Amino acid sequence: MIIAIDGPAASGKGTVARRIAAHLNYAYLDTGSLYRAVALSVLRGGGDPGDADIAAEHARTLDPALTEDPEIRSAASGAAASKVAAVPAVRAALLAFQRDFAANPPGGLAGAVLDGRDIGTVVCPEAARKIFVIADVEIRATRRFKELLGRGEAAIYARVLADLRERDERDGSRADAPMRQAEDAMLLDTSHLDPDQAFESARAFVEAGTI
Ligand code: C5P
Repeated sequence: MIIAIDGPAASGKGTVARRIAAHLNYAYLDTGSLYRAVALSVLRGGGDPGDADIAAEHARTLDPALTEDPEIRSAASGAAASKVAAVPAVRAALLAFQRDFAANPPGGLAGAVLDGRDIGTVVCPEAARKIFVIADVEIRATRRFKELLGRGEAAIYARVLADLRERDERDGSRADAPMRQAEDAMLLDTSHLDPDQAFESARAFVEAGTI
């Protein structure tokens, strides 16, 4: 059983995905961490995340340990991630890993939950359940702003909002695997839901007809 959860940054998709995975005892993969790790690798190497050849090389030789580095959560890594993610060779290099995780969840677990931008449309179009999580951009900016402050990063709300808008635009307009809702995905708007309510909506949808 594969569950695909997509949506823009700070929509709440990660929280929903993590909780669904814990609830069902499924494996969980935050696919954004792969793109963020590639971006961090490029930045640390002094490269330009917008350079397709450099980004592709870092994706092909990615050290998986980098996905655990706290620095991938920085605003700079997020912005650079959406640049490397627009490079088709980067996406191709990360595709097999994601599909293998979905088909063979680590630990022999019975299913996998993957969250990202293109899971329901490209990585796992065969997923049994798909959810597309959205929220108003100002609400997402407020969430991300608090998260950055909570981590001790110097953040300016207007800048966070502008970054999110820019990232939405880049992720939604790229030619290869743009962010979009799959036709068979449930739309979950978390603008006015707390994490428990968002999880409950997702859980009800995922479990409908399965038990
Ligand atoms: O989800 P998160 O904000 O951590 O993702 C960082 C960036 O990685 C996104 O802005 C997007 O450009 C890219 N990404 C993607 N496809 C995915 C997951 C993330 O293009 N499946």
